[in-house]
Amino acid sequence: MDSDVSSQSHFAHLLQLQQQTAILWRTSTANERLARLKQLSDWILKNQRSIQTALWEDFKKPEAETDLSEVFPVTSEINHAKKHLKAWMKSTKASMPMAMFGTSSHIQFEPKGCALIISPWNYPFNLTIGPLVSAIAAGCPAILKPSELTPNTSALIAKMVAELFKPEEVAVCLGGIEVSQELLALPFDHIFFTGSPKIGKIIMEKAAKHLASVTLELGGKSPTIVTSTADIADAAKKIAFGKFVNSGQTCIAPDYILVHESKKEHLIAELILAVRDMYDPAHVGIEKSPDLARIIDNRHFNRISHCLQDALEKGAKIEFGGRKNEKDLFIEPTILSGIAGEMVISEEEIFGPLMPIITYRSIQEAIDYINQKPKPLALYIFGSTGETKEVLKKTSAGNAVIDDCVLHFLHNNLPFGGIGNSGIGKSHGYFGFLAFSHEKGVLKQRVGFNNATLLRPPYGLKTKKII
Ligand code: NAD
Repeated sequence: MDSDVSSQSHFAHLLQLQQQTAILWRTSTANERLARLKQLSDWILKNQRSIQTALWEDFKKPEAETDLSEVFPVTSEINHAKKHLKAWMKSTKASMPMAMFGTSSHIQFEPKGCALIISPWNYPFNLTIGPLVSAIAAGCPAILKPSELTPNTSALIAKMVAELFKPEEVAVCLGGIEVSQELLALPFDHIFFTGSPKIGKIIMEKAAKHLASVTLELGGKSPTIVTSTADIADAAKKIAFGKFVNSGQTCIAPDYILVHESKKEHLIAELILAVRDMYDPAHVGIEKSPDLARIIDNRHFNRISHCLQDALEKGAKIEFGGRKNEKDLFIEPTILSGIAGEMVISEEEIFGPLMPIITYRSIQEAIDYINQKPKPLALYIFGSTGETKEVLKKTSAGNAVIDDCVLHFLHNNLPFGGIGNSGIGKSHGYFGFLAFSHEKGVLKQRVGFNNATLLRPPYGLKTKKII
């Protein structure tokens, strides 16, 4: 776009076109929506190699990780929608309360209308196209604003969308904050945002201007508890994968570990083993591993480096890792002990390959530690059934996983999302369909039958009979 004015009017024009589509798509059938999803899925499978290349060029994301965390979650969402969309779209009957005697009612799912999907850089394909799958399933046209920090993936998304859809159906607007802000000034019906809590607040403010509904998929510090009864070797393997996949740049990565003091040394030893097994099986140095993504850019490299430096200056100890190479944006998976409350690492979402280990003495102490922080996106616990139940009851988190971590993202039948500071609304499968649908309650009265004779004046003693 040549100027702000022309891009603004271009976006406004795009939205006007999509508003026409939204009216047409209100009556779209499941088969029509499924046909759109099928062409999306066909394109993805045919162009898997291009997706891998784009992600590699953006931050050296390993091919296998791209398949696992960018392609598979999207194709799995599409396959799931293929199986269930017809059932999701069916109106559901509402049972009749006594006061509504004689009526019948149902809940009808209506597409919300025009959707704006703004996505982050850390899983740039998955977190842009996943919500698009839900929007299409619900019958909504959409404008996508992928991240400016992954230019190759964002350009590929734009190419894919241009090949598959007319701009009045799905369109991509490339660019950074300015583009996002111009789009946010327009009257969308629903805004689906994935990103940081800080920007989530801005999105909600902008949405309020048009009373657009929002889904906010945000981040935060996801705690991981390892109790004295946990299988330490098993927990360490699972935590190391969840933390260091994508070089720790995962919204649901275990942010920090709370371990029972009696198991700290054992856990650290097992975490080191697990990291070496994954990234340095041939003992040539983790930097040479083809399986570890790089940090997205210099700003984030410096942010994570500062977080590490601050912790070390305030008394933290490196148990493993700590090497960096700014030229290659490499930060080694790093395990830290001696963590104190006033460190940046204890306060801010780490979003990088640093794993702080904090000890506790009683499960209540671990619970209190979690409860004095904003509500996290996920909570992980490795321990006995009793301990697990207690933690689940006494804490609040968007999702929870017992004896594993991050796996819930791939479970199509579970609602995915945060609570409070970690987000508003849910996504994935049926819950994603609901995010883009309006549940319209419809009541049908019988002609000639009038409950209102009881409800309208003259009231007299009528209300006494009702209550
Ligand atoms: P971000 O909030 O900085 O940016 C996300 C998107 O918002 C980008 O497209 C960006 O262009 C746009 N944006 C940035 N500033 C804006 C502004 N002032 N006004 C309007 N739009 C703006 O997030 P990020 O750095 O791309 O991603 C990291 C964050 O996202 C982390 O906090 C992480 O936990 C979170 N995240 C959450 C999920 C989830 O599913 N809940 C998934 C991935 C990432």
